[in-house]
Amino acid sequence: MHTIIEPFRIKSVEPLKKTTVQERERLLAQCGYNLFLLAASDILIDLLTDSGTSAMSTNQWAAMMRGDESYAGSESFYRLRDTVQKLTGFRHVIPTHQGRAAERILFTVMCKPGHTVPNNTHFDTTRANIEFAGAEALDLPLPAAADTQVRLPFKGDLDLDALEQLIAGRGPERIPLVLVTVTNNSDGGQPVSMANLEAVRRITHQHGIPFYLDACRFAENAWFIREREPGYSHMSPRQIAMKMFSLADGCTFSAKKDAFANIGGFLCTNDDMLAKQEKDLLILTEGFPTYGGLAGRDLEAIAAGIEEVLDPDYLEYRIASTGYLGRHIADAGVPIVEPPGAHAIYIDAGRMLPHIPRQQYPAQSLAIELYRHAGIRGVEIGSVMFGAHARNELLRLAIPRRVYTQSHIDYVVESILEVNARKDGLRGCEIVEEPAFLRHFTCRFRPL
Ligand SMILES: *Cc1c(COP(=O)(O)O)cnc(C)c1O
Repeated sequence: MHTIIEPFRIKSVEPLKKTTVQERERLLAQCGYNLFLLAASDILIDLLTDSGTSAMSTNQWAAMMRGDESYAGSESFYRLRDTVQKLTGFRHVIPTHQGRAAERILFTVMCKPGHTVPNNTHFDTTRANIEFAGAEALDLPLPAAADTQVRLPFKGDLDLDALEQLIAGRGPERIPLVLVTVTNNSDGGQPVSMANLEAVRRITHQHGIPFYLDACRFAENAWFIREREPGYSHMSPRQIAMKMFSLADGCTFSAKKDAFANIGGFLCTNDDMLAKQEKDLLILTEGFPTYGGLAGRDLEAIAAGIEEVLDPDYLEYRIASTGYLGRHIADAGVPIVEPPGAHAIYIDAGRMLPHIPRQQYPAQSLAIELYRHAGIRGVEIGSVMFGAHARNELLRLAIPRRVYTQSHIDYVVESILEVNARKDGLRGCEIVEEPAFLRHFTCRFRPL
């Protein structure tokens, strides 16, 4: 078989700036060792996130030129709405400036104190918005998924037994909706099977509970279903994605992920009454329902991106290239969340650095060292981000879509292996300053 190549060529380039170890040590001290507070221009390879960092296609840039900037009834909105409806089948498509705005509106309308919202694993902004609405955000991942080394084809599935017990215990009236996040970003970017989505649909509908998808990476999830779940290998990613959406009553979506857009999102629902309340709230903070805080050109970029992401050549390359990074470091002895997901590789820093206790943030310490050593930025997904809710101490290396080439990734592999070779000398860190919520964005650290 031939090498799976990047199925695109490069038309416009951005230079990368190199810095020395001494410069990076100074920059780290200045930003309190919080990599969110670095200037992006001081980073060589930026794997902080795959969110909003995609390279757009010529097709998307061309679509942006026809953005209709009308305040109300923009043509660009209708193009986005039609594209989303064709894919998802949802009755109402409400644009928002990004995914968390869709979350805030959805939970404001649906959640009250005393409510519980289960999810396979809540993303950080999802949890924060549910808690901000006074409800409880409950993670119900598969118990087996807690072991980063266990290889399951659909390790992102929601624990169905736990869901049934929760409904029986609390009563369906206290569960305003059930969410499933595809792919399961906070638990290793693992996919969710169609069988699991079908079961969640069956259980929720039996009790009259709405079922929503957090659909940020719907296309990557669809590709895993095609590759791994019996009965889907003959279906196109589009057909699989359509089936996934057909099981749900609505979704939240960040267009900064699988829509290759630099900003944007939307909220979908089949419920007319809810849609009305959601649009009223939208007007209050986001804007009129035909633009939702976005420019007409952004709506165009999203509409084009949702079509492009379902290209099988793209998805094959995407999953293969992320797996390439994962296999090269894991096979050389760096523990990662197995098996590799689509949008990121997660190093199990707890396992890699057993001499650094949880309270000294092993994954943050590794993030700091990888930047210091090689100018690479990853992000801690562990006790800094989730506090006591953290199941593991992970360093996520998210791969921006269509941005880095294989030689960039080879450099990342080499750098990680160099750090791994002297891992016993790494030290932990402590937090010296933190805000009231979502502390990982702005807190400051001190190396020990
Ligand atoms: C990114 C993300 C969100 C939030 O979207 P934003 O556009 O960053 O506000 C919600 N859920 C998941 C799973 C995500 O990855």
